[in-house]
Amino acid sequence: MTQDTRQNFASDNYAGACPEAMHWLAQANASGHEPAYGEDRWTQRSTDMLRRLFDIDCDVYFVFNGTAANSLALASLCQSYHSVICSPVAHIETDECGGPEFFSNGSKLLVGESTSDAARLGKLTPDAIGSLVTKRHDIHYPRPKVVSITQATEMGTVYSVEEVRAIAWTAQKHHLKLHMDGARFANAVAHLGCSPADITWKAGVDVLCFGGTKNGLPIGEAVVFFDRKMSEDFAWRVKQAGQLASKMRFISAPWVGLLENDVWLRNAAHANAMAQRLYQGMCALPGVQPTHAPQANGVFAQLPPAAVQALHTRGWKFYQFIAGGGCRFMCAWDTQPESVDALLADMRDVLA
Ligand SMILES: *Cc1c(COP(=O)(O)O)cnc(C)c1O
Repeated sequence: MTQDTRQNFASDNYAGACPEAMHWLAQANASGHEPAYGEDRWTQRSTDMLRRLFDIDCDVYFVFNGTAANSLALASLCQSYHSVICSPVAHIETDECGGPEFFSNGSKLLVGESTSDAARLGKLTPDAIGSLVTKRHDIHYPRPKVVSITQATEMGTVYSVEEVRAIAWTAQKHHLKLHMDGARFANAVAHLGCSPADITWKAGVDVLCFGGTKNGLPIGEAVVFFDRKMSEDFAWRVKQAGQLASKMRFISAPWVGLLENDVWLRNAAHANAMAQRLYQGMCALPGVQPTHAPQANGVFAQLPPAAVQALHTRGWKFYQFIAGGGCRFMCAWDTQPESVDALLADMRDVLA
């Protein structure tokens, strides 16, 4: 039997790397010998491009993956006796194997219980943050120090600029820093149509983990500190954690391909559009109940167990364990409309 090469919907990291990223990866290789550990021209160039993109003189670090980006960013904002407030479905809480706690030497994650509507959409609210912070002030409770939000959320929704501002305002009121897990930051910006600055530092975000992998890189995420004072010592933290690539150019050069000509935004807008196509198609299928309209590149729906089984038997891959939200279908930068339509046709078939 030949390997099934059809496009799948399990995760946006099933996709390969986009041609623009691969072009610059090859360029970085063609340049022969280059200084190591980030002293190369590609790292300089992509860092400068990120500074232009965010319209601020930020401090940028490239690491291998999102778990490291989040864990190290949070660790840099916390002492071991501090805590980080996040949503119950936050990747840092459910899918990083205790990485943030490990790298911060024990900072505890505190899960904020939002109102049912916000919770359903995977969002943290100012009220949830406020009640966690004001609940206890004694020394027996890990002192809240950071708020972490995911943009776009684990449920395929997007915080508006106003929502981020309101969270930042609450955070500032309680002397908390604001971290943004932007594994799908590009999809959020594509949805909002705002500038990257508007949804980050101008809205009160201190540190952003900007995801490259799911947006079309072969590998790599950028940790962006908007306040350079907060990144003091971060380089050592990255090195100690085994996240400092000696041939850094192979992580940083592909970013040039993403950032040049707004490829990152185009990739994300395409993935979002494919999720809309899938959602519209699913809404027309009796027996499928999308849980909410997607704003980014993931569609969540309830399907009868027999249909789920039948789709798996037909070779379709998608997850059911994410965020307790039923079946999750992720679209990627390269998802073809034909792939969406083929999935919809099989759904119709197995439901008949
Ligand atoms: C994919 C993802 C990450 C990063 O995961 P890694 O597998 O460690 O790269 C972080 N946050 C969210 C919300 C994600 O979906």
